[in-house]
Amino acid sequence: MTPPRPQRPQNPDRDFTLAHYREILEGITASHPTLSFAEAAPLGPALLDKERFVLMRHDVEFSLKSALTLAEADHQAGVRSSFFLQYGSDYNIFEPESAEIIDRILALGHDIGLHYDVTLLERSGADPVEMARRMIDLMESYWSTKIHAASPHLPMRSGKRLEIPGVVDVYDPLYFTEIKYLSDSTQMWREGVVTRLLDRYKQIQLLTHEYHWSEEGHGFDVLLLREANRKFRSLYRRAEQNIVRFREGLRLREVRDREFRERFGGARVRTR
Ligand SMILES: [Zn+2]
Repeated sequence: MTPPRPQRPQNPDRDFTLAHYREILEGITASHPTLSFAEAAPLGPALLDKERFVLMRHDVEFSLKSALTLAEADHQAGVRSSFFLQYGSDYNIFEPESAEIIDRILALGHDIGLHYDVTLLERSGADPVEMARRMIDLMESYWSTKIHAASPHLPMRSGKRLEIPGVVDVYDPLYFTEIKYLSDSTQMWREGVVTRLLDRYKQIQLLTHEYHWSEEGHGFDVLLLREANRKFRSLYRRAEQNIVRFREGLRLREVRDREFRERFGGARVRTR
């Protein structure tokens, strides 16, 4: 059970309601033009010639559904942003429902990037850069899109980032030290919420995470458990459907075997 809806906190630094997320977008767009990595990467160092901007990045950690919610909010605010997606996380980008969400994110004018896990890539023993490049190629061809950027997952843990040919890395000094980097990591703005800092910083990379923001403004603990519950229910439904399908398959096995042989011309199944 999800706990009751909390009050919106007085302190905006602690307010993770979607209403506040929309206000943040309003605040940003009133003072700074925004850019996605698809727009910023081709500029190279000329990005720094732009007097003011906020570079909009989302690392998607747990929920593509919540990522779509942010994508819609960004779009409504006239903002293009970049959604960095993982292979081998709590979601699977190649599930039909997920693939469709990614279609919709792209259709809103946003772009996708690779959110890579160095530890996972190194585990294979193969060249992690080559492996990441192949992941990018697959995403590019599956969604008929161009990927401009990559972001490392848990960079503090691995202490590494990869130089992947053809894409920029979000922690390249150009995007990380030359400009101001702000993030909502673990629902904790280090210097206060971005809207407090718009007067102070002209050039910003802003990282926000899909699972931090909810209608009710819950803490990440409640939100993570709620997301796990949603996934459980979805897997349970799928298991029920598979049980029905398998039982039906067994019931109709002889007919199906015959149809299969007729269609594919396979060897006759010997029956005793
Ligand atoms: Zn991550």
